Amino acid sequence: MKLIIAAGVIILLLCNGCTNKEQSLSETLSKGKWIDLSYDLSSQTLYWPNNPTGFKLDTTAIGVTPAGFYYSTYAFSAPEHGGTHLDAPSHFAEHGISVDKLSLDQLTGDAIVVDVSDKALKNRDYLISVDDITNWEKENGDITPNTIILFKTGYGKFYPDAEKYFGTAQKGAAAIPLLHFPGIDSTTAAWIVQHKIKAVGIDTPSIDFGQSKNFKTHQILMGASIPAFENVANITEVPAKGTYIIALPMKIKNGSGGPLRLIA
Ligand SMILES: [Zn+2]
Repeated sequence: MKLIIAAGVIILLLCNGCTNKEQSLSETLSKGKWIDLSYDLSSQTLYWPNNPTGFKLDTTAIGVTPAGFYYSTYAFSAPEHGGTHLDAPSHFAEHGISVDKLSLDQLTGDAIVVDVSDKALKNRDYLISVDDITNWEKENGDITPNTIILFKTGYGKFYPDAEKYFGTAQKGAAAIPLLHFPGIDSTTAAWIVQHKIKAVGIDTPSIDFGQSKNFKTHQILMGASIPAFENVANITEVPAKGTYIIALPMKIKNGSGGPLRLIA
């Protein structure tokens, strides 16, 4: 049995019939390197422009107490969907499960990276196509069920510059028509469902492109109980294949999503 503590969450991995001949999990992990795919949360954290609030950290106590020891605590508040975060099925599916009910199995697994940055950086409204996925398969082999697909658009390099990342630094409802960033086409979302992909991630604010009016890709994926990771950081450090993902969202009871500690 192994005890892993990550992002304040304790996971027990039970190993039935482990023998000394088998490689231990820590031996396997020591051959790779951990990559942090999460942005830190601060007053710079980007939220969808119509959010009236962002991430806020208030100091509750800081300094040396009358008893002579140092002590600090803060209180934070934030909307669910901002910075690196998870969209649970209940975000766009009326009967979809909430973030606290996603299984750890669905939040961990083998991942690949489909790189569309050449096309997406030339076209802010780029829609990731089925061809982008099948082209990856031609080079790397078929994508098996239960894989996690990360899409690299190259827009992560603009974070947290709202003007470059969203296409506008404006706030409020007036900003919505001005949003221009790439996303996943709805036909690609249907492919993802058909191929039983476990979860998807992207280095933009949304799995639907900025100009989307009906968030069809959200509807299709969440309707099929496939969660999404948005505002994924450092995706340029992740290789095309051979990566294992651990995605641990804050366990908000009945939440439609939440801040995500995502590591590869
Ligand atoms: Zn979201």
